Amino acid sequence: MTVLGGIDLHTHSTASDGTLRPAEVVDAAVQAGLAVVALTDHDTVSGWPEARAACPASLTLELGVEMSCHWNGVQPPISLHLLGYRFDPEEPALAGALAASRKERTTRARRMIDLLNADGIDVSWDEVSADAAGGAVGRPHLARALMRRGLVASVSEGFGDQWLGERYRIRKRDLDVLEALRLIRGAGGAAVFAHPLARRRGRVVPDEVIERLAREGLAGLEVDHEDHTPAEREHLRELAEKLGLFATGSSDFHGTNKSIPIGANTTAPEVYTALMATGGREPSGP
Ligand code: AMP
Ligand code: FE
Ligand code: FE
Ligand code: ZN
Repeated sequence: MTVLGGIDLHTHSTASDGTLRPAEVVDAAVQAGLAVVALTDHDTVSGWPEARAACPASLTLELGVEMSCHWNGVQPPISLHLLGYRFDPEEPALAGALAASRKERTTRARRMIDLLNADGIDVSWDEVSADAAGGAVGRPHLARALMRRGLVASVSEGFGDQWLGERYRIRKRDLDVLEALRLIRGAGGAAVFAHPLARRRGRVVPDEVIERLAREGLAGLEVDHEDHTPAEREHLRELAEKLGLFATGSSDFHGTNKSIPIGANTTAPEVYTALMATGGREPSGP
């Protein structure tokens, strides 16, 4: 397979915490001259139909997901994200786990709103859930409510320790990462560890955990990601090579909730083709 444009394997839409609708993410990918884009919303596949309907013949659309997980080998557990590609979205165990994650997101957001309200910040669930528009609700939606009140200047600032990063943070109960990996694989998919060394989001797992995941069938590591320094990328590239994992690159595009443009990091065509061949389903598209 020849792939001429760029390949971006990680983007978000309004189905989770991106600001562009799924069809607009597809349009943005076309505008950026990408050959392949993957829609990987947090804990949901609800953006798939709209993205699929909007996809022109010139673009290959990969339909995926980013699952919120925990490594429970230490206390408190460490948060991490697994990207899934080419899986059956109707496989009951995986679909059930995604539904449970979304429910947990709603419960957590309501509890965080209670904390804000207790300090006299009058954010309401109606407002936040309207902004999430039926998608998977996340802290960026709460940050946007703080922005509308002029309390923070950006979504990023809303993630500061005095706001949603610590003071008003409630931790979700996330799926065990080994279980999430089994679920993606059980539904026929390929799993990639998203931004494994994104230290600015919190603690990251040691290499031994990545080795364990590789033994359990992880297919790849997202190496080229804005949250990784050049030294971290180098380290991850070597680790991927040593463990026989594919090294991917992607933007983790979130529209205006983050500053990174779509296609900012990309995956090599041969890596893309081989990675997707480990998953069971055909890409959507023409
Ligand atoms: P949640 O999954 O609801 O706990 O929210 C975490 C999400 O917020 C991540 O997936 C990112 O998309 C986003 N996020 C995390 N840190 C930041 C930041 N500093 N600025 C903007 N968005 C962020
Ligand atoms: Fe996000
Ligand atoms: Fe992520
Ligand atoms: Zn992401």
